[in-house]
Amino acid sequence: MPERHNALPELEPSSLLAVIEFTETQVKNFRRSLLSWYPRHRRAFPWREEPSLYRTVVSEFMLQQTQVSTVLPYFERWMKRFPDFETLANARESDVLKHWEGLGYYNRARNLRRLAEKLSGRKSMPETPEAWRELPGVGPYTAAAVTSIAFGARAACVDGNVVRILSRIHSDDTEFRDGGAAARAYTATAAALLDPARPGDHNQAMMELGATVCFRTKPLCTTCPLLRFCRAGQGGDPEKHPVLAAKKVTRVEVPRLWCRRDNSLLLHRASGTARRLADLYELPDAQLLGLEAGDTESLGPILLRRKRSITRYRITETIHRYSPPRGRKVPLSAGSGLEWIPLDRLNGITLSGPHRKWVDELIAAEGEADSDG
Ligand code: SF4
Repeated sequence: MPERHNALPELEPSSLLAVIEFTETQVKNFRRSLLSWYPRHRRAFPWREEPSLYRTVVSEFMLQQTQVSTVLPYFERWMKRFPDFETLANARESDVLKHWEGLGYYNRARNLRRLAEKLSGRKSMPETPEAWRELPGVGPYTAAAVTSIAFGARAACVDGNVVRILSRIHSDDTEFRDGGAAARAYTATAAALLDPARPGDHNQAMMELGATVCFRTKPLCTTCPLLRFCRAGQGGDPEKHPVLAAKKVTRVEVPRLWCRRDNSLLLHRASGTARRLADLYELPDAQLLGLEAGDTESLGPILLRRKRSITRYRITETIHRYSPPRGRKVPLSAGSGLEWIPLDRLNGITLSGPHRKWVDELIAAEGEADSDG
């Protein structure tokens, strides 16, 4: 087949999800454009400036589900307290969680510590994506990122950034059930484009391009190094891609209690085996005391109302100033998870991120009210 130059390939829809039909020359030019753009435009992050296997692993765990601007201060603090796999493996889980407080998805911290336990003291580290997939908390993306960056493994990273770029390059109208399905569909294409000589830089360049140029909305196509390969960029309507099925949104209301006694606050600690937030504290859900949303007389006045989204859930949380009816005690039975925490101990426990903010906010508001009074 003759090579085509300076033209976008004619792609059959069925080929979009397999290997991209660029000519060999186009693939080489694609890699060259990407890799000459990257060193001039990459942002200086601590895990890039002083790279090591440990720093790469920690940054990849922190960056799963979390934006880089949020991660940066956590990363610096983490490195001071847990500078290597050995220190992390020997740390108490409560200490590890405390240093993760506010980053969310706390299983990442537990898995990172378990991974450190498995790797600390080893004479040689696993170097293949397959071996890394055996370690706690390591999925296909993290395995590819760590091994390509640290060991030059020829493994392509595919996440939302990469899917966005590749679906736009193809101008792909295929509707995917969700981001995971799209990532699986684009794995072969990403692997075919990966530069085998510099897989770590190639993967980081794709991530960087997705994060700083190929934005979800208003991508900066005119300055993009891949414009000449990109159908959607040239067509002027890149925001249409990728096409993901609309998510079914579920709205939930959760009344929570602000219940004070002397110098203590009532909190709920999730069980150590809970799927989410294991061992973390939160303001108690009113249901734990047998109270229902809408029963404003029993719940008490609303102090705060906050909205947040977790996956497909749109959650409205109202925090009520609750006083138990005269003669009724808060049920602190074993297994209820309810505990009175003295205010001067609050900084020593791990609250989930939003609850830490709300507790600080309400304590500050009470302090102001006391000084006004
Ligand atoms: S040309 Fe535009 S749409 Fe295409 S990869 Fe670049 S920024 Fe994204």
